Amino acid sequence: GCTEYDAAYFQSYSHVGIHEEMIKDRVRTETYRSAIFQYQSAIEGKVVVDVGCGTGILSIFCALAGAKRVYAVDASEIAIQANEVVKANNLSDKIIVLLGRVEDVDIDEEVDVIISEWMGYMLLYESMLSSVITARDRWLKPGGLILPSHATLYMAPITHSDRYNESIEFWRNVYGIDMSAMVPLAKQCAFEEPSVETIIGENVLTWPFVVKHVDCYTVTIVELETITAKYKFVSMMQAPLHGFAFWFDVEFAGPANMPNDNHSPSSLGEGSTSLLGDSTTVSSDACANGSNQRRKRAKSMETLVLSTAPEDEPTHWQQTLLYFYEPVDVKQDQVIEGSLTLSQSKENPRFLNIHLEYTSGGRSFVKESVMR
Ligand code: SAH
Repeated sequence: GCTEYDAAYFQSYSHVGIHEEMIKDRVRTETYRSAIFQYQSAIEGKVVVDVGCGTGILSIFCALAGAKRVYAVDASEIAIQANEVVKANNLSDKIIVLLGRVEDVDIDEEVDVIISEWMGYMLLYESMLSSVITARDRWLKPGGLILPSHATLYMAPITHSDRYNESIEFWRNVYGIDMSAMVPLAKQCAFEEPSVETIIGENVLTWPFVVKHVDCYTVTIVELETITAKYKFVSMMQAPLHGFAFWFDVEFAGPANMPNDNHSPSSLGEGSTSLLGDSTTVSSDACANGSNQRRKRAKSMETLVLSTAPEDEPTHWQQTLLYFYEPVDVKQDQVIEGSLTLSQSKENPRFLNIHLEYTSGGRSFVKESVMR
């Protein structure tokens, strides 16, 4: 049911700033637009639901791609503006704006396509994916299209002395005064919670690890309540380890056997071979983290990927960093291992609990943290 948490959450989406930030994120918005036109033949003359339409931009792209009808659903009052935008663009005959939660609104037909921009920091913050699942289970026709179709959360150990020095070491000598007494508080304030910031490839000590791969066609709400992964890294260099970075990508692939409209043979066998994963497109050879099924699907076409990896073009998601309170020196080839559990907070289901267990070089510790 609708809770007071939800009221605060939807309230946060009634302000223009958050929508401005998302729409100005060209990597995000243009990848969605490209994906919609890549699947134009699956959208033309079809019924679409936009889960969390915001200002209505994705619904309008779908209408321009020829959708017969688009249900643009948002529980935030931004839907009122979306409706004005739709009217001003003479699309009221195609786009039906519904103010309400996808869990609550009524749509009296099955839909061919679900589109949604649901990804939060660290992929799962905000837990909006469960609303996409609800929409899928309520309305999507068998064989229907979900954009994006797959999501992958990655983690990697990082070194980031600049950040550590500017927030912590700084207190050791302030205008010639030793203010080290501030260090414990500074550590707590800087590193207790995960932080959203941009890092670069050089901060990353080794190849990323897949924490969770989600197939939006099949994932269940229960599966997302608690995610546990055992990780193991081998550091490629000697460096102070400051913590872990998290980032994600999403893919725009059809359900099994649905072709898209991009049959560019020249792209087959090419694609990103970078250390940190995908760039904007991925072909069969670049699916290093993928299952055989993904490999098979990718073979016949070029799958669009929206990546938030440190070495790819920055997005408003940046990366999410989980710092240790103390840096740990690691040697080249040193094993870094442990486990990570992500779960919905009891305090507020929109918050994300992060439980990290870490062992390396004979040292172990546990770090608990909440993303609020
Ligand atoms: N599609 C827009 C906005 C994305 S932000 C764009 O791409 O620019 C996500 C939006 O989903 C927010 O406006 C939020 O209010 C809405 N939302 C989140 N959960 C929802 C739910 N369960 N029902 C309806 N809207 C939801």
